[in-house]
Formats: sequence, structure tokens, C-alpha cells
Amino acid sequence: MAKKAFQAESKRLLDMMIHSIYTHKEIFIRELISNASDAIDKLYYNSLKDQIAGIDRNDFFIKITPDEAARTLTIQDNGIGMSVEELESNLGTIALSGSHSFKNDEEVVAAGAEGTDIDIIGQFGVGFYSAFMVASEIQVISKQYGSDQAYAWTSEGADGYDISEAEMDGHGTIIILTLKTDVLSEGEEENYSEYLKEYTLRSLIKKYSDYIRYPIKMDIEKSRLIEEPEDESANAAADDASEDDAAKEPAEPKEPQYEEYIEEETINSMVPLWKRMKSDITKEEYNGFYKDKFMDYQDPIKTIHTGVEGIVSYDALLFIPARTPYNYYTKDYEKGLQLYSSGVMIMDKCADLLPDYFSFVKGLVDSQDLSLNISRELLQHDRQLKAIEQRLEKKVKSELLDMLKSDRENYDEFFKNFGVQIKFGIYNDYGQKKDFLSDLLVYYSAKEKKLITLDEYVAAMPEDQTAIYYATGESIDQVDRLPQTEVLKDKEYDILYGTDEVDEFCFKILETYKEKPIKNISEGDLGIEETEEEKKQTEALEVSNKEIIEALKTALADKVSDVRLSSRIKSYPVVLVAGDGMSLEMEKIMNKMPGGPGMPMKATRILEINATHPIIDSLKKAHDKGEEELAKYASIIYDMGVMLAGLEVDDSGDFVKAVASLM
Ligand code: ADP
Repeated sequence: MAKKAFQAESKRLLDMMIHSIYTHKEIFIRELISNASDAIDKLYYNSLKDQIAGIDRNDFFIKITPDEAARTLTIQDNGIGMSVEELESNLGTIALSGSHSFKNDEEVVAAGAEGTDIDIIGQFGVGFYSAFMVASEIQVISKQYGSDQAYAWTSEGADGYDISEAEMDGHGTIIILTLKTDVLSEGEEENYSEYLKEYTLRSLIKKYSDYIRYPIKMDIEKSRLIEEPEDESANAAADDASEDDAAKEPAEPKEPQYEEYIEEETINSMVPLWKRMKSDITKEEYNGFYKDKFMDYQDPIKTIHTGVEGIVSYDALLFIPARTPYNYYTKDYEKGLQLYSSGVMIMDKCADLLPDYFSFVKGLVDSQDLSLNISRELLQHDRQLKAIEQRLEKKVKSELLDMLKSDRENYDEFFKNFGVQIKFGIYNDYGQKKDFLSDLLVYYSAKEKKLITLDEYVAAMPEDQTAIYYATGESIDQVDRLPQTEVLKDKEYDILYGTDEVDEFCFKILETYKEKPIKNISEGDLGIEETEEEKKQTEALEVSNKEIIEALKTALADKVSDVRLSSRIKSYPVVLVAGDGMSLEMEKIMNKMPGGPGMPMKATRILEINATHPIIDSLKKAHDKGEEELAKYASIIYDMGVMLAGLEVDDSGDFVKAVASLM
């Protein structure tokens, strides 16, 4: 009988499978098992719908049988089966749902070479044809429920397939894969024989199909003891009996006798943890599940088990790790949740389910609305995944807020691990998410000496304080020593300290919180309200120092954009601050960035002088001596400001010489 040709599109897909360089070929098992499960679902559904008698849910099974001698792996189900027409149309012409995910033919053709197949196979699987990644020949024997005749569909790959009548007991489908020969050459080792080993099959079933609702059975070879070795007392009795026959050899101790037998075992657990009642699940079960599935050795800091019924229904089981994964803040880290469709895992890391700022969340989502066989269309998934993502992010946030309120110690620990990611979330996309995320922030408080939220900061603000103040730097200590913290501390205004590089950017993009402007203490106008008396004093100082300030401006014209009297320092003589816009901290970070900002970035520098500090008199005296003398002093106080800001002076030699000449 002449072979029938595959429909063009199917042939391409098939070619791609046969020559696939995909490294997780093992997923064919998942695909075939999920097809089997779907076939059982269909029969079960029909039996309910059409009230077919004699169908018992408990009779359904999927059976996996390896045969090392014949090099075959058989996957059998007693589902709905296929008629001859269905064999032809389902397996011969794959107008298959999966093919919709290929945008065009060229993409499929190019796939093998480009490695695109990896994405396609990895993300959605490609159903039945994936078996051609491991099999050189596939035979599908199927008998439709209600029919008397079985048919066999056989193919050795892209050049076509045969269909003939066949014998089969009962209804359902038997798929017999003849595995390819192992490739042992170095570099492209492929050990297909692995798929015949009980251990491998067992672990693949556990890994991908544990929660399939029908039993996945395997015949397991076992052995049992059938004859005990004779025990001590029996031996002693025998000795007694033969007492007078001393010449007799002592009896050989009997070896225990074993009998080999086969037992059918169900490999999958059938009930997913997330489908069980929350109240029935212990903390140990959750933790064990997490550690097992997500390869962590520590219990999660938070477990979120949630279910939603609605336009898109799903169950989700999410975990927040207790520590930062070693590669978390690198580009190697892959975010994502496992995606299940009715208990069958269809994607290991579905990135669309998690926003970047919650990329630390591990876990899974199971939805019956993302059916494996009905909709593999990416577009449709997109919409549903988006809906799930939106609900999940709200859920994760509310659980985090909960932890913030009721379990502060753990929250601080969480924030230490993943806070930077949340800060990036605030900063990214032009601050689109800042309102959503800002109440998750905690910063070190100068006053409280611990982490506090922006809410807590605002609640504790003295009545006359109008802004939220922050300072950033390398360490809490370093920031705490900044001269410009003095006046604020004196006024009992709290200051939030940030030591992550992103902090400066995060505060800048936040701009305000609860309508309070957020201000860097080293930048621009602090907006501190003065009493009438203070105002008068300031004015007086401004008048009496006008001349020296003007002279300093001239002397430092090429270094700073302005010189002015300071309202932020008390015991220090000077402070270098930035104008509105870019802060000095930001300047440091930008210039440190790999690749840099392209050109050296410079914040507008402003030198502020403490008019109540004795230095002002020395400056005035120098000014009296002439411009040259003042220039020397001016350059020294500028360098002081630079050093206090944690920046490097232009020329430390000049600084030392200038100071030495005055001493
Ligand atoms: P998908 O499962 O996405 O539809 P497949 O290539 O895996 O794509 O399968 C194609 C079709 O073949 C299925 O839709 C189903 O109708 C049929 N099929 C595959 N395996 C079985 C099976 N074990 N029992 C009955 N029908 C099956």
C-alpha cells in the first residue's frame, strides 16, 4: 500500500521535530500523556452529556510500558479513541492548533537552524509530533469508543504514513514509539535508551504529569521473600535430634528465597496540592513542596495560596523565597511562574504572569481556561495571562502589606533581599507604577534608627514640617555624618537614608508622597519655614555678608554656579550641594555606570557657607588682603565641600599646598 503524504504544514513541523536540537526532548512524555488525559476527558464528558451508561470514572487509566529488548515505549489510554478518519485528519494533517503559533511558514523552516524551535517546543509543546524528537517510528493503534474496528497509523517520519486495520481490545489509543538509536559521539550525545528506564520514566511523570487526574500506571518489577532462612531455634532442634550421629556434616544454612513478580503502580499523585483545601494543608507540606519544586533549601518567607473563579478561573500557589537567589540581580535570572492547564504543566517559567518588580515570586498557576488542546493560540493566552497577572500582582502586594503590618521582622528581611527590585519597579517606565508600589517601601530613619515606611514618616512629621527629607550615600554611617543633616535633625525633622544606587532615582521619580514633596537634603531649597525672627536674622546676615559672597562667587566662578549662605548646616563651615535636578549622588552613580552616560555628567554645584561659623571672618580678612589671598581661601573651602560630599577633589596636591601656606 502506498504511503500517504503529510500535509505540507505538518511535514514542516515534523521535519523540525526530527531534526530538533531541543535539549528537553523529554517533554514528549508530557505531550502524549496530556493527549491521553484529554481523550479520557472527552469520553468522560460525553458519557455525562449523553448519559452513556456503564462508564465509570474509576476505570480510566493511562499506562506506560517500556520494553528494553524491543526498544519501544508504549503509552496507552482507554479514552475516546480515534476513528480511521480522525487518525487521518488528526495525525496526518495537522491543521493543529499548535501551528497557529508559527507566524508564517518561513519561520518554521528557519526554526531548526535558528533555534526558534526551542522557544516553541519549550513554551507550548507541539503535541503529538514531539514524539518524533525521540522516536524513529511511531505506531498509533486506536479504537473509537462505540466502534468494533481498530486502526493502526504508522509513520517513520516525514515521508508519509500508513493506515491499516488492526486488532485491539477495548477502546482508546495505544501509541508505540520505537526509540531512535543512541548517539554517543562527543558533543551531541543523545541517550534515547534513558526513556526505557523505570527510574527516568517515573521521574518524568512526577515532574510533568504528577497532577494528571487519571492514574498513570506502570508495571514495576518487584521481588518478595518466599522462604525464610531457618531460624536459630529450628537449627538447635535439628542439632538435638542428630546428637548421636556426630559424623554428620552440619546442615548448610539456607539462603532466603525470593520471587520476582510484577505489580502495577500508579506513579502520579493525581491530586495537586493547590487543589486541596487550604485548611487541610500543613505548613510543612507547603514548605516541602516549595523546596522540592523550586530547588531551595530554605523555607519560603511567605506562602500565598489563592483561587479565583471568574472570567478566567485559576488556582495559584506562590512563594516568596527567604533569601535572594545567587543570580537574582543579574541578567541570568529568569522570572516566571509554572503554568498548568487543568493539572498538566504546560510551561515551566511563564514570564507573563509576573511583573518585573515581583520577579522574586516563585510558584505556579493552574487554570482550566488555558486548556492544552483547545487554545494554544498565543494571542488568546496573552489576554488570559494578562488578566491573571493583574490579579496576582494585587494579591502579592496585599500579602506583602499584610506582612509589613503584622510581621515586621520578616518584612524587613524580605525588603533587604528584594527591596531593590521594588525600587526599580517604582523608577521604571517613567514611574507608571509608583503609586501602586510606594507603600511597600521602607527606608532607614535617622530618628527611629530602623526601617520605616513613608506612611510612618508622614505620620510622625512635626506640624511645621512640609516636606519629606532624604539623603543617599554609600552607608548609613556616611550619610548620617553629612553636614547637611544637622539643621534638620535640630528641628526634629526625620530623614530617610538610602544606600542603594537606585534610591536617588526612586525618590526623584516619586516626587511626592501623600502630597508632601520629597526633597534631597543636599539639593536645592529645603523649604524650611522660618519664624519671623529667623527671617529677620537671615536678612541681616545676607546684608552683612553680601560683599564676601559676591567676591567668592567671582573667585569660584569656574567651579560652582552659585555661592550662598546656608540654612542647612550648623557646626560645619561649608557644604557643597546641587541645584534642582541632578544630585551629586546621581552624578556619582551615572559616571560609575558601565558604559557610562556617554559624557561625564555633572550636577550643578552650589557652595553654601555657614554665616555663623568663624570661618566667615577669616574669609573677610583674606578678602581685605586682596583678590589673590581670597582665591586661595576660596579654593580651600570649595575642596572642603567636595570632600564632605564624598567626592574627589580635583587636585589633592593643590589643596595640601594651599592649606600648608596658610598655617
Ligand atoms: P493537540 O493535542 O494540541 O490538539 P496533538 O498533535 O497533540 O495536538 O494531537 C492532535 C490531535 O490528535 C488531538 O487534538 C486529538 O484529537 C488527537 N489525539 C492525539 N492523541 C490522542 C489520544 N491518545 N487519544 C485520542 N485522540 C488523540
